[in-house]
Amino acid sequence: MAQSAISQHVAALMGSIPQQPAAPAVEEPRTWSFINRYTGERMHVTCMQGCTLDHTRESGRHLFPEDVWCWTTPEPLTLPVNTNGRPEEFAVLSTVIKVEPWSSKVAERLPYAVVELVDDHFVEGLDPDGLETVINSLQERLEQMRATHRRLVEVREEYMRRGRTVRSQADEALRRVRGEAV
Ligand SMILES: [Zn+2]
Repeated sequence: MAQSAISQHVAALMGSIPQQPAAPAVEEPRTWSFINRYTGERMHVTCMQGCTLDHTRESGRHLFPEDVWCWTTPEPLTLPVNTNGRPEEFAVLSTVIKVEPWSSKVAERLPYAVVELVDDHFVEGLDPDGLETVINSLQERLEQMRATHRRLVEVREEYMRRGRTVRSQADEALRRVRGEAV
């Protein structure tokens, strides 16, 4: 095969190899600014990496700096929770990363986690150790739930067996009352 034919062949093969998806571009953190309502000064914000908030409504507006924050929206997970007689889907264990660059609480000026146990019930201000503590507690809880699950299976089986015995005894008693042959 002539050299040119080989290179054509190679080129054809290369063409048939699906392109690897490009590595996701590392997004530059967004920057925007607002006017400090206390001082009239323009304040510049560089979003936390991965911030999913759309700041377009805040950008350029007069704001109290402590009302500015960035956060990451968690993956949704809901369970049917009954609060008023009928189950409704509630978000459970949503975990967001949040930062409030001008918070009156210094700890909140660094990214921290917030765990929403269930809609509007939060465990706030979690640094990495704090979040780990919550995760460990939940893991322990899940292990307890697994043990309860195993116990439920056993208790239920025993109960159903017992139910059959009770029912057959009741049937027998009824037949006796009716004077039927047992
Ligand atoms: Zn942001």
